[in-house]
Amino acid sequence: MKTIVLKFGGTSVGSIDRIKKVTKIILSYKKNNRVVVISSAMSGITNELIKKSRMISNNFNGAEYDALISTGEQAACALIAGSLNHYGFKARSWMSWQVPILTDGPYSNSRINKIFTKNLNLYLKSGGIPIVTGFQGINDNLRLTTLGRGGSDASAIMIAKFFKADECIIYTDVDGVYTTDPRLHKKAKKIKQIQYDEMLEMASLGSKVMQPSSVQDAKLNNININVKSSFQNKSGTLITKNFKKKEFSNQIITGISSTKNDAKITIAGVKDKPGVAALIFEPLSKNLINVDMVVQNISPDSKETDLTFTIKSEDVKKTEKIIKGNKRISYRKLSFDKNLAKISIIGVGMITTPG
Ligand code: ADP
Ligand code: ASP
Ligand code: MG
Repeated sequence: MKTIVLKFGGTSVGSIDRIKKVTKIILSYKKNNRVVVISSAMSGITNELIKKSRMISNNFNGAEYDALISTGEQAACALIAGSLNHYGFKARSWMSWQVPILTDGPYSNSRINKIFTKNLNLYLKSGGIPIVTGFQGINDNLRLTTLGRGGSDASAIMIAKFFKADECIIYTDVDGVYTTDPRLHKKAKKIKQIQYDEMLEMASLGSKVMQPSSVQDAKLNNININVKSSFQNKSGTLITKNFKKKEFSNQIITGISSTKNDAKITIAGVKDKPGVAALIFEPLSKNLINVDMVVQNISPDSKETDLTFTIKSEDVKKTEKIIKGNKRISYRKLSFDKNLAKISIIGVGMITTPG
């Protein structure tokens, strides 16, 4: 008997009708396999919870923030389990702490480091279908943690790892990974197979169909991922190491990704001495601000430098406060530009193709 991990994203469980459809998909696998289901929250719920936290405070306590924003997954899992029960099947919801799923790292951006298999294995042996909350885990202090936006993908990959699953299928609202976001560009083409590195680049540069750290987890553990639609029964995309090059032998570019929530920061007239970049970037990293691109220009007399870098636009206020409060750097002018988009072209073929 095969072990199959099925993950359903927010839109796939976004209404009662969708949950009924998902119930049928789960049952189509149940006949011959051990099935473990991971679910995200119903679409929009996590965003609503985040909004509520901001209405209370811009500096909402990290542990409480995760306790709050992970609640959507509990409701979705209970609804799926209840639907399976309704049709006479043995199923139940499993919160991360009941499995348990252990994480390390900061709140809002934790990573799964261990999943205990004993409880779920007993349940699977008894013929049950476990419906596990994606996106959440617990840390050493037994507090709830979350895995970053889109983190249910990582939950599915890590469940596949710890249960040595034969298949891991990510059910979403598009029928695979496309050359670019198919909702933005009608001409996007479906990619049948894509290797981990290219998927990782596409994901981290804005293709939100897979969460970047989940692709990294899949690569590190050599887990094949199938991305499929829960809306249409069509073949999807295989994300894998064993890439069959045949159909893409002349391919230079695999995909194009874009992001809209970037911001550019320029610190003009910084005294150019060794260690100045560290003085600027270290405090940002300590505050979990991710710096993406860095450009540095040296003035003709080599005494000053203009440093430009990009961050996520939600980090602008925090970054401004940190730089202005940093007495160890002197500069002439600090400027911010929130009106920025980034377009990235991805393809390993570019490495060996001039032009
Ligand atoms: P889920 O809720 O199932 O996790 P997401 O919204 O996180 O789904 O991801 C699916 C969305 O990713 C699609 O609706 C699509 O708009 C977007 N997307 C962005 N880039 C791509 C791409 N290259 N291929 C497919 N989908 C993409
Ligand atoms: N519900 C979470 C989010 O909206 C996790 C996920 O969708 O994978 O980010
Ligand atoms: Mg997602």
